[in-house]
Amino acid sequence: MIKYIPELTDVVLEEIPDKVTLAVEISNCRGSCPGCHTPFLQQDLGVELTPEDVDRLIADNFGVNCFLLLGEGRDPEALLRIAAHLREAHPGIARALYSGRTEVEPEIQAAFDYVKLGPYIAALGPLNSPTTNQRLYFHGEDITARFWHKGLENNR
Ligand code: SF4
Repeated sequence: MIKYIPELTDVVLEEIPDKVTLAVEISNCRGSCPGCHTPFLQQDLGVELTPEDVDRLIADNFGVNCFLLLGEGRDPEALLRIAAHLREAHPGIARALYSGRTEVEPEIQAAFDYVKLGPYIAALGPLNSPTTNQRLYFHGEDITARFWHKGLENNR
């Protein structure tokens, strides 16, 4: 199972370029970012994110066109089941994943339209910093520079 923090679910405009994104915070993070900005997400907090939750969250936030998992948890099979549900039940909604790892398995990369890789290192800055070590990929293409050109305020 993967868990999310319901009260932190939000619609955001900065995390994925040109998308109205419904973002859910996933706990049980297996990252080890030296400047972790949300250390409580490394704990076993929240409630299970089920396909029914995904359906309800999308229905409650009409108009979103991207579903973003902020973190991947510790259960890759459950993560892939959520991605598969999104693809099958909500084909018009892009699937996005923020991982704190430097790389993810090919099946995880393939399950999402957008994948962010790289630990958060405060000295290098987040995605909107040209010195960032983090990268956002769209179907394998590095689109990180779009954050720099547009001046988006992604600060994760
Ligand atoms: S990905 Fe990194 S910054 Fe985000 S919660 Fe995990 S350790 Fe912290």
